[in-house]
Amino acid sequence: MQKIIFSLLLMTFFSQAILAQSTFIQNKIIAHRGAWKAKELPQNSIASLREAIRLGCEGSEFDVWMTADEVLVVNHDHELQGMDIETSTYEQLLTKTLSNGEKIPTLKAYLSEGMTQKSTKLILEFKPSLISVARSERVGELSVKTVQELGAQAWVDYITFSYEGGVKAISTDPKANVAYLNGDKSPLELKEAGFFGFDYHISLLRRMPQWIAEAKALGLTTNAWTVNKEEDMNWLLELGVNFITTDEPEKLATLLPSKK
Ligand code: MG
Repeated sequence: MQKIIFSLLLMTFFSQAILAQSTFIQNKIIAHRGAWKAKELPQNSIASLREAIRLGCEGSEFDVWMTADEVLVVNHDHELQGMDIETSTYEQLLTKTLSNGEKIPTLKAYLSEGMTQKSTKLILEFKPSLISVARSERVGELSVKTVQELGAQAWVDYITFSYEGGVKAISTDPKANVAYLNGDKSPLELKEAGFFGFDYHISLLRRMPQWIAEAKALGLTTNAWTVNKEEDMNWLLELGVNFITTDEPEKLATLLPSKK
């Protein structure tokens, strides 16, 4: 009897995981720091995430730093209005306010907002620490643990410039989808280290277009940043990359094959 109940529980768990993943939109559009530009929202704000969801982007990207007291927060730069994030406490950061009235979002709040829907994935970039490699690894590890704690695995793919942080994230959860940003590893090197794929600068991929085919042959995902020119968007669409990261998701949406 116990065995049957356990099997039923397991089936329920897996069917929910599959359901959550299969509902996400697949249109390659990743909104860079959320969808902020057209509506002049603060980058990485909850409002920019909501706008990316409203637009129907496949993913909404955001950047994660760790405060001095190990709170993960969402912001692009290493500082928030002149306050250095890594050497400030979370409480100190709360003295600052974003232009739309929001406070700096915690990773938990950001994930919780994203988990209210099942169409747009959450592309979590954990930033390399400016203090130490050990801290970069800690941010990778804590990001994965936070996602696990909230049960947000189906929503989240990770990206990072920190090779060491990426490796740490993968060892913390071998099923985590971690793509590498820094452009200094070949597809084969990434595959061997357990990465999910690459997310490289458009200028690098223009020089090394063969890496897209190599990555595909290895079963790695391909993504490019930050692609705002129509000709680059079209070039990447023709090559069949998996994702395109852009500040202008509205423009990319008009170029998709289904819109032509
Ligand atoms: Mg980023």
